[in-house]
Amino acid sequence: MRQRPGGPEDGAEGLFDLDELVAASAPAAERADRSFRDGEQARRLLDVSEIYAEPAAARSWRGRQIIARFPGARVVETVSHWRIPDLHGNAGNVERWVRIKRGTLVLGERKSFGVRPNGRSADWIAPALSNGCAMACAYCYVPRRKGFANPITVFTNVERVLAAVERHVASTGPKREPNQCDERAWVYDIGENGDCSVDDLISDNTADLIHAFRRLPTAKASFATKFVNPDLLRLDPGGRTRIRFSVMPPYDSRHLDIRTSPVPERLAAAADFLDAGYEVHFNLSPVVIRPGWERDWGELLRAMDDTLPGRVKDQAAAEIIMLTHNQDLHEVNLGWHPRAEEVLWREDLQQSKRSENGSWNVRYRTGVKASAVEALRALIAARAPWLRVRYAF
Ligand code: SF4
Repeated sequence: MRQRPGGPEDGAEGLFDLDELVAASAPAAERADRSFRDGEQARRLLDVSEIYAEPAAARSWRGRQIIARFPGARVVETVSHWRIPDLHGNAGNVERWVRIKRGTLVLGERKSFGVRPNGRSADWIAPALSNGCAMACAYCYVPRRKGFANPITVFTNVERVLAAVERHVASTGPKREPNQCDERAWVYDIGENGDCSVDDLISDNTADLIHAFRRLPTAKASFATKFVNPDLLRLDPGGRTRIRFSVMPPYDSRHLDIRTSPVPERLAAAADFLDAGYEVHFNLSPVVIRPGWERDWGELLRAMDDTLPGRVKDQAAAEIIMLTHNQDLHEVNLGWHPRAEEVLWREDLQQSKRSENGSWNVRYRTGVKASAVEALRALIAARAPWLRVRYAF
């Protein structure tokens, strides 16, 4: 039973809409009875009118399913999903940034199947079945790799990815020592460069991954999401998939998490996902330092404490991820969402470092970051002491 939260402490203005949070708790479970992906809400996020497809991907079973799913879409053949001049690396596309995310899909075949070690959020990074995203978070690192436009690329050779993961799990064997990723299972991140909840609006790739991990008793899938997709409640993950709802104070989310599910809806869905057989964790991410940030994070944590049921709290853990940003993305954002840059681009607080691909990434200066993490840990201890922090980055 959800508790009705009390009023704000310290006379601070309540920035978290608690009524919205309580009201949001019903729809996810109710909507699970029908196909969310075919409904109006899903169409507002993704209404595909153009599909760039590698020939082999278009011919594949999954590719044909996807093309049939969007019968009105124009299919354009492309030699490589990485080299589409109309989409990638074209500064003119800044103006079409969101329109491309909503209306364009790319179908390709994945060529590499390596599993990479991680050790922070997960033990391993699995070869993903997509990259890119229909949402448009202003700080997202994925566009740094894909050029200006960043629609979803879906990989259609699912069976090869699943086989690679299963081979890796088998060769790794059981986990002998607990670590912060998990006590018992090897954790595989399956959505490093996208959002698996949104991918499920397009095809059964996410469902196939979740079902595969149900058969792997020494491993667990994990993905972060900012989108509540009730269709995922119909799957049966059997405790072998960890969904990590990313949360941030709603004030930040409204300015920075463009096209995502509202934070209260993500929190309200946590119990439904737990009851459906998922493990539910939270990403406190990204933490953006701005005037009032500590007050708003404190309020968010208090709302989590007030509204999440005990069974969610008992198994929850969190990652703290401080904002990183990038000079190229900063320039792009100035073209479509300059307000976001007022809080994301803080030269007074940040330091830059040349990345492997030659562009400049920025992050909070070491001392700034350390004291912010300490402040957030103190807030968690005071407001949500049940929330174990797995790691801070
Ligand atoms: S939800 Fe994740 S992948 Fe999608 S735009 Fe936001 S940060 Fe990027």
